[in-house]
Amino acid sequence: MIHDRGQAVGSQTRGRTVLSHLYLTINKSLYLVQPLACGPGAALRAFRLNKGDGTLYDVAQTNFGAECDCPDFIFRRAGLDPLGCKHVQALVGQGLIEAGAAASVRPEQGRRTVGSR
Ligand SMILES: [Zn+2]
Repeated sequence: MIHDRGQAVGSQTRGRTVLSHLYLTINKSLYLVQPLACGPGAALRAFRLNKGDGTLYDVAQTNFGAECDCPDFIFRRAGLDPLGCKHVQALVGQGLIEAGAAASVRPEQGRRTVGSR
């Protein structure tokens, strides 16, 4: 048989659904990691950690740093510990989110104007 012109070899995988799941262990606890959709103005990235026993934690990377909605983060880490809770540390350690405030947001540098004297 003659292949259609312009059809790449890699196109064989087009249309095929790949089922994948990401699991993360934190202190011997297994979590299913599910990416959450982020709207503009909300978090830059967000993940839901599903512990399997019904416990869900949402971890988000915002312009102001990483946040988690677990009790440890809310009561002991928010605004106090830049490393965050174990969920934040685990996602940062695996490269899923970045710690700290976003460095890419730079204030516009003032333009130097050459004034005439
Ligand atoms: Zn947490």
